[in-house]
Amino acid sequence: MSLYDMNIQKAVNAIKKRNAKNIGLQFPEGLKTQGINIAKILEKETGANIIISGDPCFGACDVSDNKMGDIVDLIIHYAHTPLPINYNVPILFIEAYSSVDIYKSLDESLDLIKDYSKIAIATTTQHLNLIDEIKDYLEDNGKEIVFGSSKSTLKGQVLGCNFSSIKNLDADAFLFVGSGNFHPLGIHLFTKSPVIAADPYMGEARNIEEFADKILRIRFARITKAKDAKKWGILISSKEGQYRFELAKKIKKELNNDGMEAYFIMIDNITPDSLLHYMDLDAFVVTACPRIAIDDSQMYKKPLITPQELEIVLDKRKWENYQLDEILFHEKDKY
Ligand code: SF4
Repeated sequence: MSLYDMNIQKAVNAIKKRNAKNIGLQFPEGLKTQGINIAKILEKETGANIIISGDPCFGACDVSDNKMGDIVDLIIHYAHTPLPINYNVPILFIEAYSSVDIYKSLDESLDLIKDYSKIAIATTTQHLNLIDEIKDYLEDNGKEIVFGSSKSTLKGQVLGCNFSSIKNLDADAFLFVGSGNFHPLGIHLFTKSPVIAADPYMGEARNIEEFADKILRIRFARITKAKDAKKWGILISSKEGQYRFELAKKIKKELNNDGMEAYFIMIDNITPDSLLHYMDLDAFVVTACPRIAIDDSQMYKKPLITPQELEIVLDKRKWENYQLDEILFHEKDKY
């Protein structure tokens, strides 16, 4: 049984309502194994042709409308919420809410937040349906709760590249509910506040500070190494939500003005292998998904850094003002 609510009936209803004949079906990596089963049900229930996208997908920045646009009438995209960007095919977003029990991790978090009275809650799409339950639980335990939202995110939601919902919240500490360390790391770096991560999949809660220190040490080492670079690759994605060519051009100009060489390279799926052809370059700046440079940094032979980290390399930002890269989708035209 799936841990996620795939809401297949919603997909069936949408296909029938539109009388759609060709359907694109898209899942993030962790849910791709559900594809065949869902395609089978949709085909049987609606008679439509179902085309599963086999390409990597990590966010709503990455809907396969450009690729499938001429083929399908509707794309059913799982596990993300819409972003304020242009999709050129109708998209049905299905959140795939998780049914994992959150209470063990919330219980564990209480000890870690005991010294704070005002708590801001943040989570990802998979637990957004429980945001009010989380609030009630914490209020029952004597906490005052605040949430934020933004033009790119719903109430209490953060993305791996967008923390606008939590930036201006007045809170003593932040409680992130969800898996992994990247989102709570981002909250910590943007707010400089204590962040507790309640991980329902592990059934535990942890303070993110130690992890943040470790990541910052790695980033410091990458930035230091990048200071020796003379020839740069500027990585650009063609994905609608990650395409920031204006930013890439600005970066090239800055590097050239400082007497360095810089070359644009467009890659949609950046991996260590995809960069092997460009090893005569000394370092890379990533203008695509902000997580790429951070998440798998150890796997790359040459430093991969974010645009904000390049500012430190070029002495335009102080290390003390380190920030993660963000994509402000509603302002993307400015990039
Ligand atoms: S740019 Fe990266 S972090 Fe942002 S939505 Fe896309 S995949 Fe997620």
